[in-house]
Amino acid sequence: MKKSIFKFILLCTFFLFSCENKNTSQKNNFKEPASGVVISFDDTSINEWYQADKTLLQYSWKATFCVSKINTLSHSEIKELQQLQKEGHEIAGHGFHHFDAPKFVAKNGVDAYIKQEINPMLALMHFYNFKVTAFAYPFGFRNTNIDKALLKKFKIIRGTTYGAQDPFFQNCYYNNSRVVYGIGIDTDHPNFSIPYLIKLLDYAKRKHKILILFGHKPVQNITANYQTKMETLQLICNYVKQHNMTFYTLSELNNLK
Ligand SMILES: [Zn+2]
Repeated sequence: MKKSIFKFILLCTFFLFSCENKNTSQKNNFKEPASGVVISFDDTSINEWYQADKTLLQYSWKATFCVSKINTLSHSEIKELQQLQKEGHEIAGHGFHHFDAPKFVAKNGVDAYIKQEINPMLALMHFYNFKVTAFAYPFGFRNTNIDKALLKKFKIIRGTTYGAQDPFFQNCYYNNSRVVYGIGIDTDHPNFSIPYLIKLLDYAKRKHKILILFGHKPVQNITANYQTKMETLQLICNYVKQHNMTFYTLSELNNLK
């Protein structure tokens, strides 16, 4: 009798350990991406991006610069963008003319959109040696029909999201999709506040998420709309560093799968 109990316990222990091993090996095979942030900037504030980089280098930060109207940039601005790319930042597309995509497509069709807004942008950006694999919609205006056409050209595309709801309900985290949504860090972005930004960062840290952010022109002191305070960028970079989180570029999100 005692022997059979002993055998039973032995058997149970064996099963327990074999299950344990299985769980551990499954866990090891599944690589959960490190929690982090994508910091992106839109439009053409090249000089300010370049200056911001000098301050934020100390955090080993990484950003994605989504450039519109590439044909209007000066030689020195192109050089600065090339330098940013060389340092590991991403240069992405934001439209040749900065068209409102759904409005343009409703009037002219998606083929004309690609022909006028995307192809000339890519041709000139490639000419300057920018490896463009991500796109941010001007004004964040988009629809699934245009997404479909753009996903043939880019690894990942970014829209925008708003609101100040609980982070659980927010759209601004990477969700394994090639269409992602950034939340604004410009001071005039609707509902922007430092406490809410910290809440979003805390959630990313706690739940192993990647928070996607976008701004426009980094400045020391706000003088107009579409400006991101350097203080805000320093706060984000500091948070990422202190909590051992990761800086991702937009296109790097597509490599996580
Ligand atoms: Zn824009």
